[in-house]
Amino acid sequence: MASTTANHEETCTHCGSRLIYLDWEERLDPHQIQKLWRCLECKQEFVTLQASEEESVSSAEIVKPFFPGLLVG
Ligand SMILES: [Zn+2]
Repeated sequence: MASTTANHEETCTHCGSRLIYLDWEERLDPHQIQKLWRCLECKQEFVTLQASEEESVSSAEIVKPFFPGLLVG
């Protein structure tokens, strides 16, 4: 049973569920990407840091501010 549909290994830090989706991500520096995940089980959000393997930064720098707008304010 080889499934390649789930290409992330992150689990919810609150309930341990794998039913999460990438809500937002931001490149902190050329070697680190901060990702904001949202859990479908407990509706919580959590952030992970991912090391980027890209040594040469071409024009892929994403600097546009983006707010999900779904946060409880
Ligand atoms: Zn959760």
